Amino acid sequence: MDSVVILCMIAKMKAIIPQPPLLQQSQTWQQALSEMVTCPHTLLTMLDLDPMTVPWQWDQGFPLRVSKSFISRMQKGNPFDPLLLQVLSTPIESQLDKAFSCDPLEESDYNPVPGLLHKYPSKVLLTFTSSCAIHCRYCFRRHFPYQSNNPGRKGWDSALDYIRSHNEIVEVILSGGDPLMANDESIKLFIQQLQNIPHIKILRIHTRLPVVIPERINHALISNLSSSRFSVVLVYHINHPNEIISSIAQGVLRLKQHNITVLNQSVLLKGVNDSLVCLKNLSISLFEAGILPYYVNLLDPVQGSKHFFVDIVKARQLQQDLRAALPGYLVPKFVQEMPHRLSKTALDLIP
Ligand SMILES: *Cc1c(COP(=O)(O)O)cnc(C)c1O
Ligand code: SF4
Repeated sequence: MDSVVILCMIAKMKAIIPQPPLLQQSQTWQQALSEMVTCPHTLLTMLDLDPMTVPWQWDQGFPLRVSKSFISRMQKGNPFDPLLLQVLSTPIESQLDKAFSCDPLEESDYNPVPGLLHKYPSKVLLTFTSSCAIHCRYCFRRHFPYQSNNPGRKGWDSALDYIRSHNEIVEVILSGGDPLMANDESIKLFIQQLQNIPHIKILRIHTRLPVVIPERINHALISNLSSSRFSVVLVYHINHPNEIISSIAQGVLRLKQHNITVLNQSVLLKGVNDSLVCLKNLSISLFEAGILPYYVNLLDPVQGSKHFFVDIVKARQLQQDLRAALPGYLVPKFVQEMPHRLSKTALDLIP
C-alpha cells in the first residue's frame, strides 16, 4: 500500500471518530476549519471523479487544503471545474521554468522587520498569520519562508515600532497567509495597539477566509473591527462566480451595516476565469453580493503556476471588452505587480 493511500485511510479514520453533535446553522468557523479536506483521493471521490484517471499529485510542501463548503460549490463529475482547478495539485506543477521563480516579486528587498513588507510608501503589509483555510495552487506566497518570517505576537512589537517611526504610512494591510485565521482575541489586541499610532487611518484586511468559510464573519470580528477608530476595508479574494453563495452575501451585508467596505481582487487564471463571460458574470455576482470589484491581478510568475498564466495581450483585451460589457464601476483594474515600482502597475500603462 503506498503512503498516499495510508494517509487517506488515516484521514478517513479521523472522520469516523464521533464528533460532538452540532446544529448545522450554528457551526463555527473553527469547526469548519477542523473538517477541511486534505486528501486528494477523498476530494475526487466526493466529486464523483475517479482518482485513477484524473491526474493529481501529492504535494507535501504545499498540500491540498479546502473546506467542505468550497467543495460543495464544485460541479460533480467535472475534472475541469474552475474551483477544483484552483486547489488540486497536478503533475504539471512540477515542470520547472526559469521565468517562474520562488520570489518573483523580489519582496525580500522590502522586508525591514520580520513579517513586514514596506514596498509602497503610504502603506505597509503585515503577514499576520502563516496559514490559510485553502491552498490555492497559483499562490504567489507558496514559497514564502513564513516560518522564519512570521512575526507572531512577539514580533508585533518590532513591526509596530517600525510603523510608529514612519509617519508617511497611513494604512496597515493585514495579509498572510490569511489574517482572519487569527482568532478574534488576537485581532482585538492588535487593533488596540495599532490605534495608539495616530498617523494610521485605515486598516485593510486581505482575506479569502470568508469566501471559503462564510461563518468567519462572526459577531466578535464585526465588533472588533467596527469599534476601532479606523476606516476598515476587507478585500476578499474570489476568482469565479461559482464561489459566491448566499451566506457570503449575508456576511457582507452585516459588515456593510457596520460601515465596513468590502472589495474583491481576483487573479487572472487560465482555464478558471480567463473569458469575458466569466469575468462579466463575476463582477455582476460580486455586486449582487454587495462587493465591489477592485483588482484583477496578472499571475505572478511563481514556480509551479505556469499552466495558469494568461499573457498581457489577452489580459488587456479582456479588460477592454469588460469596459464595453459592464457599468464602469464594475470593471476591476487590471494590474501587475512589478519589482521596484512605487505602486502596482495598470496594464494600460505597460507599453
Ligand atoms: C498590493 C500591495 C499593497 C496594496 O496596494 P494597493 O494598490 O493599495 O491595493 C501594499 N503592499 C504590497 C507589498 C502589495 O503587494
Ligand atoms: S488564501 Fe491567499 S495566501 Fe492563502 S494560499 Fe490562497 S491565495 Fe495564497
